[in-house]
Amino acid sequence: MPYSYDDQNIFAKILRGEIPNKTVLETDHTLAFEDINPAAPVHVLVIPKGAYVNADHFGSEASDAELADFQRTVARVANRAGVSPDVGDGYRTISNAGPNAVQEVPHYHVHVLGGRRLGRMLQPGG
Ligand code: AMP
Repeated sequence: MPYSYDDQNIFAKILRGEIPNKTVLETDHTLAFEDINPAAPVHVLVIPKGAYVNADHFGSEASDAELADFQRTVARVANRAGVSPDVGDGYRTISNAGPNAVQEVPHYHVHVLGGRRLGRMLQPGG
């Protein structure tokens, strides 16, 4: 079944420049910007510029160049923010897909979270 992408989602509007964002990094294929409602001192969202709904859509249909660029951008964000274990105290990446994961914005994104102790991966019953 083909993936269906809603081009009116808020990240599509950010990519078109219709609403502002606090850009952290931008490459040919990828944009990283501050989350508007940070859950940790470091909370950056990394998104592909292409129209992908979630990780499985991106992983199935993105080009090798898009995939590589995205993953390298996540690494650069963690390093620049000083949270990579090489230079800091560590971080967590999260990507929500679909209703069970409570995905709010239907454009693929990875949250990069750090700057404090994040606790265990999932809350019991959460
Ligand atoms: P998710 O639940 O994984 O879809 O997460 C969506 C994230 O997008 C949330 O952490 C929101 O705070 C964030 N968000 C929503 N609107 C904006 C915006 N205009 N700029 C930056 N982050 C946003």
